[in-house]
Amino acid sequence: MNEIIVGIDLGTTNSEVAVIRDGRVEVIPVSEGARILPSVVGIADDGELLIGESAKNQYVLRPERTVRSIKRRMGEYTRVPMGDKDYSPQEISAMILRRLKKIAEDHLGQPVHKAVITVPAYFSDAQRQATREAGEIAGLEVVRIINEPTAAALAYESGHEGARTALVYDLGGGTFDVSVVNLEGDVVEVLASHGDNHLGGDDFDQKIIDFALEHIKQKHGVDARQSATAMARLQRAAEAAKIALSDRPFATIMEEYLLEHQGAPVHLSLEISRDDYEAMIEPYIAETLIATHVALSGAHLTVSDIDEILLVGGATRTPLVARRLEEELGMQPRGELNPDLCVAMGAAIQAGVIGGTKTSAVLVDVTPYTFGTSAIGDMDGEIYPYCFVPLIRKNTPIPVSKSEVFFTSFDGQHKVDVGVYQGEDRDALNNIEIGQFTIEGLRDAPSGNPIVTTFSIDVDGILHVTSREKATGLEHSITINNAMTRFENDKLDEARARVRSLFGEEATAPGPATENRRHRVEAVALVEKAERLLEKAGAEDAEDLVNGIEAVKDAMDKTDEALQQAMDTLADLLYYLEA
Ligand code: AMP
Repeated sequence: MNEIIVGIDLGTTNSEVAVIRDGRVEVIPVSEGARILPSVVGIADDGELLIGESAKNQYVLRPERTVRSIKRRMGEYTRVPMGDKDYSPQEISAMILRRLKKIAEDHLGQPVHKAVITVPAYFSDAQRQATREAGEIAGLEVVRIINEPTAAALAYESGHEGARTALVYDLGGGTFDVSVVNLEGDVVEVLASHGDNHLGGDDFDQKIIDFALEHIKQKHGVDARQSATAMARLQRAAEAAKIALSDRPFATIMEEYLLEHQGAPVHLSLEISRDDYEAMIEPYIAETLIATHVALSGAHLTVSDIDEILLVGGATRTPLVARRLEEELGMQPRGELNPDLCVAMGAAIQAGVIGGTKTSAVLVDVTPYTFGTSAIGDMDGEIYPYCFVPLIRKNTPIPVSKSEVFFTSFDGQHKVDVGVYQGEDRDALNNIEIGQFTIEGLRDAPSGNPIVTTFSIDVDGILHVTSREKATGLEHSITINNAMTRFENDKLDEARARVRSLFGEEATAPGPATENRRHRVEAVALVEKAERLLEKAGAEDAEDLVNGIEAVKDAMDKTDEALQQAMDTLADLLYYLEA
């Protein structure tokens, strides 16, 4: 049996451990239902060593007995006080590593002595050395230290053929990094990296905390900062609200008996809309976009050189992140891997490569289509009633649930028609309508009455759509059983339209018999594949490819046999070039 080598993401906020088993990447649970260990260490009042969630819980009340974000101190010659003793950063990190080692051993039922550990691309030699020492103190031989963007790229790309350039955008709890990487097979090269190691999801929480503190002050005339317990509760509630706002248009912070003021209890009940929240955090996102451009110029590349954007770090689940990246770089980022876990997964894949274990690509269940509804909006400067509003974007892992708020458009509007569409076109009517319903009996209200529409896809690929009048809770919903599969034919239609246009025919012109059409659809796919390879081929191969492509295109309006022959020749060439 090969010796096990685990992959560890030793993060500023959270850490994870993963391993390759039976050719598959497995992130090991750290406790019932959780695969993330908070990177927090503490000593309880009774002297017990706390690591992870329990230490995180202790932090706000007993900060002097608790250490967090130790990663920021790695490589410094310093001592960190905890309880009545002090420790080196390596020792604190070693406590986290020891816990992860034990978790892995219990799960695997065998001892673990070796690990691959990830570090930020910008870590200096001293910081890397300190990480290695932390491993050794924990009883782990660190067989390799790899860069976090390298690990993330490996997780996304394992099994992918050909060279690619990716932008790895990593927004965690307390740090932000963006790296430009080149990938080919299992080899990843970081071309440039930039970031801010004091920017992350914690800052987003702080904005919500400030908002709540201001509200408490206005409403109750008290400064809640005076109470450590109230602050601890607010901290948790703010993070929970932030996480809820990633999927919902509103979140409510409800904390009864938050504190006492002049002998009376102060209850907090505060609603935050996603719009307001996004306005609070927009300046942070803007900073990350500037850093992204710095990284690109550091790599001497422009946006057009980037093949894909990979999202890493829990805070990238904030929808504003993907939206602003798409606006800025003109490309929908990939986020189909769990952004908290993909660095650990990549570390495990690297460990597998070192240990000689073969890994299959990381497989996740994602929706192959974008689903959404329509609303009145602006289309090229004109008011248009059927602007497409995507709720669940394609390649989102399932199960998933996403909500958006819509508003009635005239006074006394008693009903709203909700269309459910599948597609990408910004005009909903150009997408495929897969369902529709009407929510009726709305209260008598001026225009702007909020209606929250939720799209959920469950593990079986069943789509549920619900619309709910926010003020009254009145709701109506539909279930679409085969949303994920029923439109295979439409893909075929698209391909047909492309074939026809290749022939110079109108998209609506009648096509040839089905078999012939299939044949030609395959020919177009083959030509597209060859054209992709063309960009990377050497001069001699490129000439052969161009000839092969031309031959297939010429044969498209000839007999089926002639087309088949040209396709066979081109397919052989592709086979040879890909081998
Ligand atoms: P990481 O350091 O990668 O583990 O990321 C942790 C950060 O991600 C913390 O600030 C979390 O609150 C944040 N986070 C986790 N889940 C979500 C979510 N669904 N939406 C927004 N932020 C999240």
